[in-house]
Amino acid sequence: MNKSSPKDLQKVVEQSLQYAKSFENNGKVADYIPELANVDQDALGIAVVANNKKIYTAGDCQKLFTIQSIAKTISLILALQTAGKEKVFSKVWVEPTGDPFNSIVKLETKTHIPLNPMINAGAIAVVGVIDTQFPFASFLELTRKLCNRDDIYLSEKVYLSERISGNRNRAMAYLLKSEGVLEKDVEETVDIYFKMCSVEVNAIDLAYFGSVLANDGVNIFTGERIVEDWIVTIVKTLMVTCGMYDGSGEFAINVGIPAKSGVGGGILCAVEENFGICAYSPKLDDKGSSVWGLKAIEYLSKEMKLHFFAGSEINEYY
Ligand code: GLU
Repeated sequence: MNKSSPKDLQKVVEQSLQYAKSFENNGKVADYIPELANVDQDALGIAVVANNKKIYTAGDCQKLFTIQSIAKTISLILALQTAGKEKVFSKVWVEPTGDPFNSIVKLETKTHIPLNPMINAGAIAVVGVIDTQFPFASFLELTRKLCNRDDIYLSEKVYLSERISGNRNRAMAYLLKSEGVLEKDVEETVDIYFKMCSVEVNAIDLAYFGSVLANDGVNIFTGERIVEDWIVTIVKTLMVTCGMYDGSGEFAINVGIPAKSGVGGGILCAVEENFGICAYSPKLDDKGSSVWGLKAIEYLSKEMKLHFFAGSEINEYY
């Protein structure tokens, strides 16, 4: 590494976009929630919030999309903050499943306690323990803080679409209720879960959130601690082991950054004490992660040496 000649990060971010777009995108937008299909299919946006307090962007990084599964990281933070570690982990484990995010099978064959908070069953169990009077309002407030933007809202259209099409999630919630894992009312709990998934963000918002995670819970712009560091450790570890669906192992090898993807097309990343990153593009691979988003992040990781086992210092950027 040559400290005397820092690299132009803006250029690298733009190159990551070109690199991603050089791949034919045979992915498919999620349509099992019908409203998710109503998007600009070729959108691609990348945003990086760096610890030098600069923000680097390329492409459609202001375009709004629903946060979907990335909400699972925020609901977990909220549950740990309000109900505590012991209560939360009496309702959900921390082990990868190797199954798709919406799989129900292990709730019957392995344990009635969902295997981790990053799959739908686990997230529903987590929502069930959030200990505030109005869990969705608390979630929205926390999301706004983490993303550094006050005017973040729910997409009513996506929320209603999730409610109509969300019977698989309901099935899981009823199973959890029947086993005593879910203590609260099923319909109320899944409704809060649907609302959380339907919150609209853009790539810059999630890059800010990534930066908070990268800095152990602190907003580097204001110095405010938003999340306790022990909670951030848990969340980032679960992002590594379970954040990229049943592709988490492959992602850890190829890219090596704690990350969480959602079927809205977003991928959130946190590079320890350096960067918050988000890539957004709605066409998904068969596991549910953004095809172009994965390519862009893979490029950034290789070019900037971001892999957690890269063994060399990250280049200096301006
Ligand atoms: N709302 C989606 C669902 O429950 C979230 C899934 C995801 O992004 O992985 O199916």
